[in-house]
Amino acid sequence: MRITQVFENAKPVSFEVFPPKGQLTVDAARSVIAELAPLRPGFVSVTYSAGGSGNTALTEQVAHIGQTEFGLNMMAHLTCTGASTEDILRHIDSLRARGVENVLALRGDAVEGARPGDFALARDLIPVLREAGFCVGAAAYPEGHIDCLDDYENIRHLKEKQDAGAQFFVTQLFFDNDFAYRFLDRARSANVTAPITFGIMPFLSKSQVTRMVFMCGASMPAPLVKLLARYENDPASLRQAGVEYACRQIDELARFGVDGIHVYTMNQPDIARAAVAAATPFFAR
Ligand code: FAD
Repeated sequence: MRITQVFENAKPVSFEVFPPKGQLTVDAARSVIAELAPLRPGFVSVTYSAGGSGNTALTEQVAHIGQTEFGLNMMAHLTCTGASTEDILRHIDSLRARGVENVLALRGDAVEGARPGDFALARDLIPVLREAGFCVGAAAYPEGHIDCLDDYENIRHLKEKQDAGAQFFVTQLFFDNDFAYRFLDRARSANVTAPITFGIMPFLSKSQVTRMVFMCGASMPAPLVKLLARYENDPASLRQAGVEYACRQIDELARFGVDGIHVYTMNQPDIARAAVAAATPFFAR
């Protein structure tokens, strides 16, 4: 099913997974999907490593497995940094061959020394995918993209993606819901009418939070810093506190009435289960 239709029918709880990589085999990825499927997510998205360091065939393969073996609505991520038009047309053919209908159109992060490619921004990839018949989503940033310091520009870039053909948005993670509420208000005031589903990632360890904060510029609110300090030497309690913190964020966002919640599962089904339990009382599923 196309994800636009999912948003028409319900406020979805959806999941992000990553494809086989390093130690993770296709069978292990299949087992993760098998555990997620009974939670009846609105859709499941599969990440892709930008700049040629990943293998798009594996992203497509996992999307295909989710659709054909588990009847899930799947979405493949596709980045365009460093890609030529021919590269993207090849990906399009192969996504079609795998029966993937939904694509998250991304720029990706530039890889040092990589060739410039034919696509500067996600907004350049979006119309190509729409023209090819895909249902297309794009990334949104409640706190602004790390390279974009101006709130006004952040919303202008979002609107440009909608004007280029993005049909829904999935947000970057954030740890303070106030950013989400402000962002939603500004986006709607700027005539961004497409559904926006909010991305939530539980913090599981101090090193993971630190990496995230530096990678995407997410703010660390005081309650989160206090939890990190309290459980600094107790990784199991820190992980549990991280999942509970994420569930509180989800509960609040759902009560507020957002269009959906996208859970960064990190391929850990217990995170998905906790998130669904937090959201279920508020979202028709
Ligand atoms: P764009 O929308 O093209 O924006 C890139 C930068 O350019 C931003 O700073 C933006 O503000 C700025 N900009 C946009 N328009 C203009 C303009 N007109 N003029 C000047 N500046 C402009 N990365 C991966 O490699 N693989 C993944 O699978 C992946 N999945 C993701 C999923 C989600 C939900 C999110 C939020 C991010 C994901 N990323 C992934 C990370 C993403 O690739 C990076 O954040 C990347 O740096 C930006 O991608 P984008 O599509 O948002 O780029």
